[in-house]
Amino acid sequence: MTPIIWVGEKPPVKPGAKYYNPPGQAWGLNEVLLMKELLTKLVQAESTPQKGELGVAEVISAELSRSGIDSRIDTWDQTRANIIAQVQSGGHKGALLFACHLDVVGPGEAKWEKPPFGAAQSDGKIYGRGSADMKGGITAAVTAIRQIIDSGTKLQGDIVFVGAGGEETDSCGAKRFINESSRLPDFIGVVIPEPTDFAIVTAHRGMLWLEVSTKGKAAHGSTPQLGVNAITSMRSVLDELEDYKIPAEPHKLLGECSMSVNTITGGEALNVVPDKCSIGIDIRTLPEQNHQDIITDLEKIFAKLKSENPRFDAEVSVVRQVQPLETDCGCDFVKDFCSAVEINETTAVGFTTDGPHFALLGAPVVIFGPGKPHLCHKPNEYIEISDMEKAVELYKNIILKFLS
Ligand SMILES: [Zn+2]
Repeated sequence: MTPIIWVGEKPPVKPGAKYYNPPGQAWGLNEVLLMKELLTKLVQAESTPQKGELGVAEVISAELSRSGIDSRIDTWDQTRANIIAQVQSGGHKGALLFACHLDVVGPGEAKWEKPPFGAAQSDGKIYGRGSADMKGGITAAVTAIRQIIDSGTKLQGDIVFVGAGGEETDSCGAKRFINESSRLPDFIGVVIPEPTDFAIVTAHRGMLWLEVSTKGKAAHGSTPQLGVNAITSMRSVLDELEDYKIPAEPHKLLGECSMSVNTITGGEALNVVPDKCSIGIDIRTLPEQNHQDIITDLEKIFAKLKSENPRFDAEVSVVRQVQPLETDCGCDFVKDFCSAVEINETTAVGFTTDGPHFALLGAPVVIFGPGKPHLCHKPNEYIEISDMEKAVELYKNIILKFLS
């Protein structure tokens, strides 16, 4: 825990104490301290795939309850969690959804200059895994919601906050949330506070991760003629993939569809003909593209190879897939969003998000948040404290634009 140095009057620290900060007014020292403290707790809660999201969900729940906002933590597999909070307005407008992910990737092998889960503060930055991706965004969204509620502003539509588990692995939290959508109000739009460095992102490519396995027949390495070498079969697949181009027209914002073979495993010992070899293929897809068509193309390649060599045997399976995201930049929600944050341009990014899952709610999705995207998943990840303050102000503007 970082020691807090008080300047001036000591702020109230009683649990449940309220902190009043009407929109548009200058920030008090209290608000900045509370915001830094929240991010510190979130980073220290270490929500890697191994540890799960429950600790982070509990931190957010406690923070929201300071302003009297109830939340529900949905747990599974002991440590996995989503958190959902709905601030009911009683108003006639649709709801605004802030959709975050609670999990972070591991610290990685490279050495960090600051401890990855220490939330060290220096030079106006807070360091730690997840500080940018996306606990800084969570902190800003939760702080903005709290400040709006504490100010007593009457809203005409509900604010819903969801923190979903598993975005970095399989989007399981977002899928659970969407499956329960019958409990939810109609949404005007969805804001995803991922680190875009305040770019308004309306599109990203989809992701299709495939595993292709070839099957052979094991034999002693000294008598290869008695076996079928799965690595040799995989070589035929790789040769075919070299010539295969996924049929897709380049997209005006997203560019080309891409495909890259990024893993290969096969063989058990130097004196055994391998009976299995597999590769992992990372395909990034464009809107309008059907993932199943790509899988069908690969199956056609396998069928051709089998017709040339009856001993050839291969299959393809989906490891993970995320659909592309494309929100209509000309829709009212995006136009109003741009005016609320006074930025006229929308853009696309290379990374994927849970956005396509939330788009299933039928509302436009915009990705917009504090933090530099290039710091994500790297050692020495950090967020600028001033960027979080700016995000709080902009999220408050967004809430007021759509819900007042
Ligand atoms: Zn993220």
